[in-house]
Amino acid sequence: EEMDVDTIWKNGEFVDWEDATTHVLTHALHYGTGVFEGVRCYDTENGPAIFRWDEHLDRLFDSAKLYDLDIDHSREELTEATMDLLRRQDLESGYIRPIAYYGYHSLGVSPKDCPTDVAIAAWPWGTYLGEEALNEGVDVMVSSWRKHASSQIPTNVKTTGLYVNSMLAGEEARRNGYVEAIVLNKEGNVAEGPGENVFLVEDGEIYTTGRAQSILEGITRDTVITLARERGYTVHDEAVLSRGQLYTADELFFTGSAAEVTPIRSVDDTEIGAGTRGPVTEELQQAFFDLVERQTDEHDDWFTYL
Ligand code: PMP
Repeated sequence: EEMDVDTIWKNGEFVDWEDATTHVLTHALHYGTGVFEGVRCYDTENGPAIFRWDEHLDRLFDSAKLYDLDIDHSREELTEATMDLLRRQDLESGYIRPIAYYGYHSLGVSPKDCPTDVAIAAWPWGTYLGEEALNEGVDVMVSSWRKHASSQIPTNVKTTGLYVNSMLAGEEARRNGYVEAIVLNKEGNVAEGPGENVFLVEDGEIYTTGRAQSILEGITRDTVITLARERGYTVHDEAVLSRGQLYTADELFFTGSAAEVTPIRSVDDTEIGAGTRGPVTEELQQAFFDLVERQTDEHDDWFTYL
């Protein structure tokens, strides 16, 4: 399936889709030494806008710092490139994928002297887990794979190599007839989804795991915590959640730039609450979509308008 993309920005210039290639001896291909982002552009009431671009750029540069990758382009240049990329392709909404990685020089594990390649692509993308998923919720399984601990491979930044764990967990779930996985950490407590954070609702209070549980603290997670607190909810954002608490929760949902706010209706074939989207999930999901569609004036500083 070819993506609906004709132009990609690479190392400072726009190139045709078929020319945006890399050498097979690229360091990152062998060792997973790339860093990337997943960002959405929404077609808002006030025109197309990139959601929380500054925070995504912060995380991209933090990821690069941790791996000593020298992104030789300023934030302004990357922002201009992204806006230009969206405009050139007439994209009013879609998904944006910036990536920086060690390119080819030599194939020692040390990336010394490898160039840093930087690219940005954008394409149209609807809901990640399907329209029905947003309304009815998804069926998930607890993966038999554990999340790597943050002492083994840093989980607070977004590295390409981390996603072999996500792929194993997600594919295990899909092979078994589920839509997505929930992954436990090394201690056996809830970590996150393969590409999502996990939220739990119990007795009207909201719980989500934090960085001490070896997760990526998502930007959507932060958005939903903020929206929930503004609506008067108590949010425990460093929660330690046992596997058992998943099954007895009143409500569960995923958050992520791709997944947005997706209810979870069952875990390992056990219905969560009434087995469909719960009321708190629905309220926060509505608040999220009102926000990103700019049906409200709140948090306008989270939007970079084209
Ligand atoms: N955890 C993991 C492992 C992820 O890949 C993602 C997606 N970036 C998230 C959480 C959610 O993060 P965000 O809301 O910033 O997309």
